Amino acid sequence: MIKVENLKKSFGDIQVLKGVDIEIQKGEVVAVIGPSGTGKSTLLRCMNYLETPDAGVISIGDLTVYAKSAAKNDIHELRKRTSMVFQSYNLFKNKTALQNITESLTAVKKIPREEADKIGMKILQQVGLEDKRDSYPSQLSGGQQQRIGIGRAMAVNPDIILFDEPTSALDPELVGEVLDVIKELAKKHMTMIIVTHEMGFAREAADRVIFMDGGYIVEQGRPEEIFEKPKNERTAKFLSKVS
Ligand code: ADP
Ligand code: MG
Repeated sequence: MIKVENLKKSFGDIQVLKGVDIEIQKGEVVAVIGPSGTGKSTLLRCMNYLETPDAGVISIGDLTVYAKSAAKNDIHELRKRTSMVFQSYNLFKNKTALQNITESLTAVKKIPREEADKIGMKILQQVGLEDKRDSYPSQLSGGQQQRIGIGRAMAVNPDIILFDEPTSALDPELVGEVLDVIKELAKKHMTMIIVTHEMGFAREAADRVIFMDGGYIVEQGRPEEIFEKPKNERTAKFLSKVS
């Protein structure tokens, strides 16, 4: 359903993605792990063209985007079908929780306010923050802000949500509530890629774990395969350091 083929990206002289291939089925939850600086964020950012890849093909359903000849409309469509959740939430500070969630519905999709609010309230309920609809980001904890960030990503009804270390900026005691929201989405078969340092979460929530190092996918498999008997030496070495 989602296919990334031979994705390459350099910054200056440094090639960060050296040819990445991923296939993801509808409803699949894929965790991406690996050392810092190996291109995990770049991969996600290229997948929705926040960064323009140098080479490769990204397909989602009937949409195929070729890096070398990507049309503006196709990039626009790709962005509609993918949503990102960032480490640093990136909420609008002068908008309420509900407005943050409905912004893309009213401003981009031109859905009437009343209808957008209805969708927004349903999402607030799903992320457990119905009572915070009129709160501004500054009045919310980091965990609550990130749950709004996830709600915002859900609002556009994307084919896939790309999470880039969604809990790394949070105090330890706030990590659980955010992971719980993501686990709920997994139960509802939302298709997701989650870059994470939370190995316990990857093990529990992911259908598949991808280990990236040096701009490549080094190894992938079911969580128990990767965590219990990694085949690659680099995977084993990384896991021995983090777990
Ligand atoms: P990861 O998410 O795995 O930690 P990143 O994808 O963020 O890795 O970064 C991979 C490499 O690319 C790093 O060396 C980083 O410094 C570099 N890089 C990422 N984004 C940019 C950019 N916009 N400009 C220049 N270098 C970048
Ligand atoms: Mg990163």
